Amino acid sequence: MTSTRWLAEYAWLPEHAEPTPDVLIETVGDRITGVTPLTPGSRPDAGVEVLTDAVRLPGLTLPGLANAHSHAFHRALRGRTHGGHGDFWTWRDQMYAVTSRLDPDSYLALARAVYAEMALAGITCVGEFHYLHHGPGGTPYADPNAMSAALVEAAAHAGIRLTLLDTCYLTASVDGQPLAGPQQRFGDGDALRWAERVSGFTPDGEHARLGAAIHSVRAVPAEQLATVAGWADRRDAPLHVHLSEQPAENDACRAVHGRTPTGLLADHGALGPATTAVHATHPTSGDVTLLGESRTGVCLCPTTERDLADGIGPARRMASAGIPLSLGSDSHAVIDPFEEARAVELDERLRTRRRGHFAPAELLAAASAAGHAALGWTDAGRIAVGDRADLVTVRLDSVRTAGVAPAGAWFAASAADVVQVVVDGRVLVRDGRHLTVDVPQELATAIAEVTDEHA
Ligand SMILES: [Zn+2]
Repeated sequence: MTSTRWLAEYAWLPEHAEPTPDVLIETVGDRITGVTPLTPGSRPDAGVEVLTDAVRLPGLTLPGLANAHSHAFHRALRGRTHGGHGDFWTWRDQMYAVTSRLDPDSYLALARAVYAEMALAGITCVGEFHYLHHGPGGTPYADPNAMSAALVEAAAHAGIRLTLLDTCYLTASVDGQPLAGPQQRFGDGDALRWAERVSGFTPDGEHARLGAAIHSVRAVPAEQLATVAGWADRRDAPLHVHLSEQPAENDACRAVHGRTPTGLLADHGALGPATTAVHATHPTSGDVTLLGESRTGVCLCPTTERDLADGIGPARRMASAGIPLSLGSDSHAVIDPFEEARAVELDERLRTRRRGHFAPAELLAAASAAGHAALGWTDAGRIAVGDRADLVTVRLDSVRTAGVAPAGAWFAASAADVVQVVVDGRVLVRDGRHLTVDVPQELATAIAEVTDEHA
């Protein structure tokens, strides 16, 4: 196994309010085996000589960042839908049009480029909320998990870990309207058949694990929620669910079931520490209590929520209720964990007209350890002995970060400032370049294949 000594100019260690200077990080294989701050008192007498073999990491080194909510194919819509009018629902029709061009080969090419873009942004693990399961008209592929396999392979090519959140998607509305048109490709008929298909899939590779998702209370009938939740529970797998992204979902759920979407999930055993509710933009106070008491996590996707005019979720109120917060880039209007993280704080400021709701270290934890935990990787997202050897180094000499205090760099940097990324002990990005994927070229080619430019 390769053993490496890294000398970080600054490293952000767990539970620290700000970065620590001069940290020696030792890794063996895919694990961190030593973390030693070289304060003047602890520096070995022959310190300079001893460290000649260490790889210098100028700048600020962070733990691996997790993107806890992704729909890889939505990346094809970037820059195509933002200038128009409408709302979430009109955007959704445009998103459906892209699905018609995707098959396992074209999805592999697109997702490989999207995951490589994530790697360039410092993301070492992604949660893929995957519902485009079947061929045109809903006809299964010869391998009914061919699309899942393509996504797992795409992450392997891009060099990042992936939790495939296989999504149960059965109906078009809370009152049980059948899937129609493009949605037919998402459906398995009922939750038992969903479970049967998913149970037949084993992700190929150490980098991938399997989880489950309930698309939303719009897409899984109430009496079938427990089937999906039970499948995840028996396998100790993460369970994700879109929740209250839109007031219309709350209204429909109350009209049909007499309770909020959160209340309905609670009734059917779908909340708990292994569950992550995605968005939770419009919860009631009772919902926040239910989520907090059950230790359900919430994945905020601020850049998507702003792009789709969803609203601003009560992030501080949820965190204070004991809800672990994680972050996702969801529709990939932007892939920049720095922007997602600071938006959590900045959106609260806009709403409350006060500053200072989240400490920078809390935002970093949401982007790293909490995100990894939400995806089932509880041994990642911290620069700590025993954790996975993920190191994300941000330059402090760019036009954005020059002159800022190291703690402030987390607030000032963008994805473009990530210069080096190590995933499970292997260098994946060096000097801001992905070592195996020509990301802009592959994005352009893959997106042309699935959009009108190809026609
Ligand atoms: Zn989503």
